Amino acid sequence: MARVGARQESRTILTSRRRNVQALVIDRDAPDGIRFVPDYPQPGPAPGEVLLRVRLAGICATDLQLVRGYMGFAGVPGHEFVGRVETGPPTLQGRRVVAEINCVPPGSPADTLDVRKHAPDRTVLGIQGRDGAFAEFVTVPAENCHVVPDGISDVQAVFVEPLAAACQVVRDCPQRGEDRVAVLGSGRLGILCAQVLALHGPHVDVLGRNPRTLDLCRRLALRAGHVDEVPPGATYDIVVECTGSPEGLRRALRLVRPRGTVVLKSTYAGAERLDLAPAVVNEVRIFGSRCGPFDEALDLLRRGRVQVEPLVTARYPLARGVEAFRAAASPEHIKVLLEPPAA
Ligand SMILES: [Zn+2]
Repeated sequence: MARVGARQESRTILTSRRRNVQALVIDRDAPDGIRFVPDYPQPGPAPGEVLLRVRLAGICATDLQLVRGYMGFAGVPGHEFVGRVETGPPTLQGRRVVAEINCVPPGSPADTLDVRKHAPDRTVLGIQGRDGAFAEFVTVPAENCHVVPDGISDVQAVFVEPLAAACQVVRDCPQRGEDRVAVLGSGRLGILCAQVLALHGPHVDVLGRNPRTLDLCRRLALRAGHVDEVPPGATYDIVVECTGSPEGLRRALRLVRPRGTVVLKSTYAGAERLDLAPAVVNEVRIFGSRCGPFDEALDLLRRGRVQVEPLVTARYPLARGVEAFRAAASPEHIKVLLEPPAA
């Protein structure tokens, strides 16, 4: 990928010295763990990076965990977003893009997703060592950017990152035709995972607690039920754990059949004591699954194979971001979006 020209870079750095921008910043001393900063320094792109003006961003469970101390992150959170390239190579200049979140230094040999997401020297957008997208501007390596086709709206594009994570479940754990699959958790990520899994096999159940999200699942033609109403002895070949709570793995181990597979998608702050003996006795395969292929997610959205707009329950200006975080944490809401001021 072409680098940003030296003259362009120095101009950006000068600009960044002058400009302050709106941002949300993790602050453990703030009552909500996060606060709105009206005059945050605008980021300047390093060599090989682009400067993006954020158009729309989404709050996810990881962000809610970050304000509770997950990863010990300090700075601007936000990793699900769509932006326009303000400063970048000619192939990207002015384009609407989404960006993969695992960032490696330019020239690094980490040239595939699987290598980038485990590179020891990586930073992760809005999660680890790098400011994220809950701001007017964000910088990312140019090679992380994917151009968003015109047929995909900004709202849809915000879902590319979590939808890619949902696609990764199928990559990590391919279903066989008749496999019975349970998605544990009917929240943001659970609904996306279930929609992707349902494209690959007919037996997908979403098991959750929130009547509102279970109802949405049914409107999206997914089979959904209350997790406490699963008949005793029901066992699944694959259980995808998307609850966002430590209880999820314990529950998953009760639902999976002997020699079945549990896929863990939740991350959360704090440690949990867990009896793993059932996993040994039942010879359960457990594996973690994180970021996934953006091109597949963009393709699913472009072809209308996955519905994401019905998940959006509120949209807040960035300046009301603290309120937006409160909404995102409440069971009344599913996906809450943040909108920075327009250019
Ligand atoms: Zn996320």
